[in-house]
Amino acid sequence: MAKVEKSTNPFKVFSKVAASSERKVIYMDNHATTPVDPRVLEAMMPYFTTVFGNAASRNHAYGWSAEEAVEAARLSIAQMLGANPKEIVFTSGATESNNLAIRGVAEMYAEKGKHIITTAIEHKAILDTCKYLETKGFEVTYLPVDHYGQVRVEDIRAAVRADTILISIMAANNEIGTINRMAEIGTFAKERGILFHTDAVQAIGRIPVNVEDWKADLLSLTAHKIYGPKGIGALYIRRKNPRVRLSPILFGGGHERGVRSGTLNVPGIVGFGKAAELVRELLPEESARVLKLRERLHQGILAQVDEVTLNGHPTERLPNNLNVSFAYVEGEALMMSIPDVAVSSGSACTSASLEPSYVLKAIGVGEDLAHSSIRFGLGRFTTEEEVDHTIEMTVKAVQRLREMSPLYEMAKEGIDLKTVQWTTH
Ligand SMILES: *Cc1c(COP(=O)(O)O)cnc(C)c1O
Repeated sequence: MAKVEKSTNPFKVFSKVAASSERKVIYMDNHATTPVDPRVLEAMMPYFTTVFGNAASRNHAYGWSAEEAVEAARLSIAQMLGANPKEIVFTSGATESNNLAIRGVAEMYAEKGKHIITTAIEHKAILDTCKYLETKGFEVTYLPVDHYGQVRVEDIRAAVRADTILISIMAANNEIGTINRMAEIGTFAKERGILFHTDAVQAIGRIPVNVEDWKADLLSLTAHKIYGPKGIGALYIRRKNPRVRLSPILFGGGHERGVRSGTLNVPGIVGFGKAAELVRELLPEESARVLKLRERLHQGILAQVDEVTLNGHPTERLPNNLNVSFAYVEGEALMMSIPDVAVSSGSACTSASLEPSYVLKAIGVGEDLAHSSIRFGLGRFTTEEEVDHTIEMTVKAVQRLREMSPLYEMAKEGIDLKTVQWTTH
C-alpha cells in the first residue's frame, strides 16, 4: 500500500531527483535548455489540475478559464516581441515553428517562386527542412558566414533572384553565440519585398528582440530556452505590411486560426507566458550580470592557460556564450575530465565517428581546434562561485591533459609541428 502512495505522489518523486543531485553538477549548458524558473512552475500548476479545461471548449466555464489564460500568455509573448497577440501562433517548439515558417511559405508562395536563402550555420531544424524542400523542386542558397559567424548583407544581396520568396537567417547562433545584423538584413529584405524569417531562439531573453526593429515577417521561439517548459513554442506571423499567409503543416480542428491544429497545451502556454513576462522584467539586468560572469570565466581561463582561442565574434555575441578551443586538448576528453561541469563540445557524435561541428567548420576553424572546443552556456541561475569553480576545474583538467600530450610538449620546445615528418603506418 505504501508503495502505491509513494509512486503516485509527484512531490516524492521530485524530491528524490533533487536529492540525487547532491553531488552538484554545475550547469553550463543553457544553450541546450534551461531549468524551469520556480515562478514559471508556480504559474503553471493550477492548469494541470483545477483549471484543466480545453481552451477550445466554448460552452462552459472550464473552457473559458483555459482560453483566458491562453490569451493572457499570448499577450505576454507578443509584448516581449513588440508584436500583436493575433500574430502569435503556438507550436510544440522551435523545431515545429521553423518547419511551419519555411514549409508554410514555400507551399503558399510556390507560384511566386521557388528560391530560398538561408545560411550554412542554421539549426538543423532549418537546414533539414530546406533539404527536404530541395527534393520537392525548391532551390536553396546556403550562404557562407565570415570568420566570426556573421552573414554579410552583400552576400544576401548577391544571392537574391527574381524567384526568391524567403530569406531565413538566425538571430544568434546556438554554438558560437554570434549575433547577426538583424535590422540591416530585415531592411534589405523589406526593400526587395522578400519575406524575412528568423530563428530567434537563442536571442530571446539574452538581447532585446523586436519584430519592428528587425523588420521580421516570421520569427521562431521556444519556451525551454527562456526558463519555461519543454514542448511549447511559438511562431510570430506578421499580419500587416505585409500580411503573411502560411500553408499549415498540421491539419485538424482548425485551432490557431487554422494555421496549427491541435488542442492547446494550456499549462505549457501559461508557463511560456510567465517566462516571457520574466524576460521583459529581467532582461537588461540579467544580461549585464551574465555578461560579467562570462567575462570572469573567459579571463579566468586565459590568465592560467595559454593557446586558448575564442570562437565567434568578440563583441557581437550573446552575453551568456563562451566558445573556446584549447589547443592540443580533445574537447571530449576535457568534458570527461570535468564531470562536475555540464558543458558541450564542438564535436557531434554521428553513428560511426566524432564529426567536428559544421558551425566551427563554416567559420574556418581547423579540424584540430574544432575537436578542441568547448561551449560554456551561462544562465539566470549561474553564480559567481560556480564560475570560479568551473575555472578551477577546467584549468586543472587542461593542464593535466596537456602534460600527457607529446604534441603540446614539442610545441613548447619550439618545434614547428608543421615541419615534423610523421611516419604513417
Ligand atoms: C534549441 C533550438 C531550436 C529547437 O528548439 P526546440 O524547441 O527544442 O525544438 C531551434 N533553433 C535554435 C537556434 C535552437 O537553439
